[in-house]
Amino acid sequence: MYKTFSYTVKDELARLKPGNPCCLKAELLSFLRSGAVLEVGQSGLKVIATTENPSVARRIFRLLKSTSTLQVEITRKPRRVQNRNLYVVSLPTQPGLKDFLVWLNFLGNGVRTEETVFPRQRCCRRSYLRGFFLGAGSLINPNRSYHLELVTGNCQSAAQLVCLLKSFDLRVRQVKRKGWHVVYLKGGDDIAAFLTLIGAVTSRLELENIRVVKGVRNKVNRLVNCDTANLNKTVAAASRQVAAIRCLVDNVGLDNVPRPLREVLCLRLKYPEATLKELGQQLDPPLGKSGVNHRLRRLEQMAAPFRFDSKEGF
Ligand SMILES: [Zn+2]
Repeated sequence: MYKTFSYTVKDELARLKPGNPCCLKAELLSFLRSGAVLEVGQSGLKVIATTENPSVARRIFRLLKSTSTLQVEITRKPRRVQNRNLYVVSLPTQPGLKDFLVWLNFLGNGVRTEETVFPRQRCCRRSYLRGFFLGAGSLINPNRSYHLELVTGNCQSAAQLVCLLKSFDLRVRQVKRKGWHVVYLKGGDDIAAFLTLIGAVTSRLELENIRVVKGVRNKVNRLVNCDTANLNKTVAAASRQVAAIRCLVDNVGLDNVPRPLREVLCLRLKYPEATLKELGQQLDPPLGKSGVNHRLRRLEQMAAPFRFDSKEGF
């Protein structure tokens, strides 16, 4: 099965450690709000949530199990559409279900609450966004364009998402599409920031990688009388550096990279198109071209033991 960029981001998120108990609750709440169906039958309540991504289903199952003693069911529904299965996570009618949903703030006075609960703490706001993205978010392949959206049928839910995204200084926009409320982000910077916020660090680096290649390509196109051989070298070097940096962060963790190197690393990610000279000028105190080159080489050397000749994305 072809995996979209969205799918890969969700896969990464689904594998994150669950986090603080407060965040766990926020993530579950937003996931359920993003698309779960609450059935009120004669025998009682029932909650059904569906996803295309099996690892997302497993994560929600695990979150439900770690916050309650309820019976949770997970089933697979084969679908003809695009040959993709659907995974259904459900909470069947049972004692304690209503109390749990009230505790979660999903239910208040017997009806769904969409607007009343707003996670205040920063950690929980991030988890809330993650849960919503897992349930109703998508992202266009950044090779094509930069567009990330969260979709909801409820206007209060949409308004809340807008507030949440604004609380992280993201330039959020909103549109109505066939009765749905679409809250979306445009532009590589905001999407990269969003991915970091929700914890998709590897996907963010993948995005930066694509931006480097696209950025340099655009630069190539802009220049008329350019020295192609030199620019190809620039493309290759910048891509190599970002790939090495990504690999380092994955394996060693950003905090374990020595500070002088970390500064250059962050600048390279922030300004993928910049020349060594431009990068050096951003440092405090400024550093010459050969100094920057030396540090980038060190980073590549540090990453070397972890490399497995990854060609993906190029
Ligand atoms: Zn929290």
